[in-house]
Amino acid sequence: MTTFYHSTRSSEDSVTSKQAILAGIAPDGGLYVCDALGEKPLDLAGVCAQGFHDTARLVLGTLLGDYADDEVAACVEGAYGAQWDTPAVCPLTPLGTDWLLELYHGPTCAFKDVALQMLPRLMSVARGGDGRKIMIVTATSGDTGKAALDGFAGVEGTGVTVFYPHGKVSDIQRLQMVTQLGGNVAVCAVRGTFDDCQGEVKRIFADRALAERLAGRGVALSSANSINVGRLAPQVTYYFDAYAQLVRRSAVRLGDEVTFCVPTGNFGDVLAGYFAKRLGLPVRRLVVASNANDVLTDFLTTGTYDRRRDFHKTISPSMDILVSSNLERLLYYASDGDCELVSSLMRDLAEKGVYTVPPRVMDEIRSTFSCGRADDAQTRETIRQTWEELDVVIDPHTAVAKHVLDGVEPDGTERVCLSTASPYKFSADVLQALGEVTDGMNGFACMDALERLSGTAAPEQLSGLRAGEVVHDDVCDRERMGAFVEGACARVFL
Ligand SMILES: *Cc1c(COP(=O)(O)O)cnc(C)c1O
Repeated sequence: MTTFYHSTRSSEDSVTSKQAILAGIAPDGGLYVCDALGEKPLDLAGVCAQGFHDTARLVLGTLLGDYADDEVAACVEGAYGAQWDTPAVCPLTPLGTDWLLELYHGPTCAFKDVALQMLPRLMSVARGGDGRKIMIVTATSGDTGKAALDGFAGVEGTGVTVFYPHGKVSDIQRLQMVTQLGGNVAVCAVRGTFDDCQGEVKRIFADRALAERLAGRGVALSSANSINVGRLAPQVTYYFDAYAQLVRRSAVRLGDEVTFCVPTGNFGDVLAGYFAKRLGLPVRRLVVASNANDVLTDFLTTGTYDRRRDFHKTISPSMDILVSSNLERLLYYASDGDCELVSSLMRDLAEKGVYTVPPRVMDEIRSTFSCGRADDAQTRETIRQTWEELDVVIDPHTAVAKHVLDGVEPDGTERVCLSTASPYKFSADVLQALGEVTDGMNGFACMDALERLSGTAAPEQLSGLRAGEVVHDDVCDRERMGAFVEGACARVFL
């Protein structure tokens, strides 16, 4: 069955899911959406009787209908294989009276791997044999970059260029990126914030002159950011699989509702939860957890999205975001597919930095979404408390969600806190939260100290960085990013 996608800003031109995945973003700047979402609910009893891989096949086969079953099966097998340090892929573990969904067992130790081990495979299939080369251009607030580099390195016919905000990612996150090997990868630090990087990447995608010059060389640009449906779709899997694990543990009965709390930045992870709900997963609430960059908390509370505010550098850097791109998709679905409304809101955002959503749409959104925030002090306190009271070490992003979830009035539903990164990715901040002094210690010394303190082992994917050599040391201003991409294309696709 073919699944058709069109822009959130216009329903005129439809593309297949393969085309949507190759393009990344719609030509008018909107995000690709599928009107069939939720017309056919998934078989929940079936999901509960099977493992992660079968559920991934079911979810992807449903959302990306023009991929053949054997294509999907091959992608799933390749994406969720031995590069994961547990066969469960995304295991669910107890967290006091709640549950922790561990999404960080992939090759780069962040939840982005769930999607970014899959996306390159989906793109390779979609490219077919036609030979058009694809340069992935991605802005990262810390974790996407390495996950994209790992996913695309060495993939035939593709290249990947990653921009990250200079000085605004953790020591280990930076090392993960600047040591990445592969003839088709490029990495550059940008003087600015993540929003500067992401804004400029969006502009690069809209640059017709650049696109024509590259097309002349047989190269097309595409995105690996969470605006790509090929990233969103794989994330739906773990909501269903988490539910199946709850049922198997007899924590819920088939059909019981569950609440998920999600540490949120670009709104991709929590939006996948909303897709799962539309596909029939019994979801009571989706709780959007923000750090001090609490633009989403204010939005969900007031109905006004206002990005005109100070940017805070926090200890949960992957959530340091003021423009949550995927919210545009929620606005589309919650307004019953009102492209005109979405267009005008996005115009307001671009021109004034602020928009206000009509009350009927906010009511629809609030019927599923709750929200809350945690500042750095609350995040640290939560890391400390979770270790002292529950013997579980969590990373700062997960701690933001845990803090927010702890503030939600219990209503009898089982609650799942999404854990999006290994604490070892942020060893220094975790140690400080646990009362340790880390002055003068580098990322590796902190990793060692955290191992000793917690009695757990750092993932090999991270401790192995010690032996890595820095091979990317470029730093540029925002204005130079386009030229950097062009240079990378020339180098990678000689
Ligand atoms: C990317 C990321 C998030 C935020 O996810 P979004 O899909 O952008 O909302 C949260 N935690 C970690 C560790 C991340 O890498």
